[in-house]
Amino acid sequence: MMLSPSQPQVLATSYHSPQLDVEVKLNTNESPLAPPEGFLLDVAARIRRSSLHRYPDRQASELRQRLGEFHGVDPEAIFVGNGSNEVLQTIFLAYGGPGRTAWVAQPTYGMYAQIAGATRTELIPGQRSDSGQLTEELIASDASLVVVCDPNNPTGMVEPAELRSLPPLRPHQLFIVDRAYHDFDQRQIPEWHGENVAVVRTFSKALSLAGLRLGYVVADPTVIAALYGIVLPYHLSSLSQLVAVSALDWQRELQAMVSLVVTERDAMVSRLAAFGLAPYPSATNFVLVDMGIHDAHEIWNRLVARSILVRDASQWPGVGNALRITIGTPEENARFLSTLEEVLR
Ligand code: PMP
Repeated sequence: MMLSPSQPQVLATSYHSPQLDVEVKLNTNESPLAPPEGFLLDVAARIRRSSLHRYPDRQASELRQRLGEFHGVDPEAIFVGNGSNEVLQTIFLAYGGPGRTAWVAQPTYGMYAQIAGATRTELIPGQRSDSGQLTEELIASDASLVVVCDPNNPTGMVEPAELRSLPPLRPHQLFIVDRAYHDFDQRQIPEWHGENVAVVRTFSKALSLAGLRLGYVVADPTVIAALYGIVLPYHLSSLSQLVAVSALDWQRELQAMVSLVVTERDAMVSRLAAFGLAPYPSATNFVLVDMGIHDAHEIWNRLVARSILVRDASQWPGVGNALRITIGTPEENARFLSTLEEVLR
């Protein structure tokens, strides 16, 4: 008999969205617009100048320097990885594991539970208030890791700003704050920070580069050193590093769609409400909508049959009868809305 895997693999299959070939793809919170031509030419020129026969810079010095300048911290306060998923996993590998606990409140991004399972970190299910948010009182005081997704996926909602004062009161815990959707959050408030706070960011959303697989974390240099202590050598390719550096030069152009997405998102919330559905208020590039009297899974099927792919959230813990719609181009959103109106009848 073959050796069976020691890992709980079912989690991965329940999280992933089907990769279907459709005309309107609004399921994985990507940017609706491809990066501009000038950026691609810059990337091509950088590849020509690079030394692909050599191993990458293990320290990703230039990229970390540039990200450090952007965040006003030393490069030693930055760890870069292949997407924020890998960054999160690296944090769990370094700080989780047997004997450690991770506090995660549902509903939230499914990968936290999966990574906790894969790293043998015990998951402590957290509570939310009646309004669906976290409060200081509700956050468990004894878990090793506290994971906060702000703004939250899949609800799209921001967490109360007061929570940012919590980490100094809980020095025995590491706060992992996932800010994947930070750029779509219009509040002008200071970023989460502190010795025991790890702020995770990604190039996949507002920078329109999901295909690049680039994420990073800003944290105290002792935390960053712990991550570099366990990650595989040369984990981030030379290509990823040079594309990411170029992306920082082209940041303004790459993020040009953010204001369009925000406008379209707010319009989407109004239209969904006008259909008699219950959209959640969103500070992200997607909208979670409770389908009310309609069966979310059935509506999802009808949309797929019309070549529109959104996310069926109806089986996710703590969500209920809902769909999650990524904001697309104005044309894609209009087509989604008119098709939805038709299938709701
Ligand atoms: N965190 C959250 C909250 C996300 O929604 C996603 C992507 N769906 C990620 C992290 C992963 O992003 P990346 O592409 O950087 O791995």
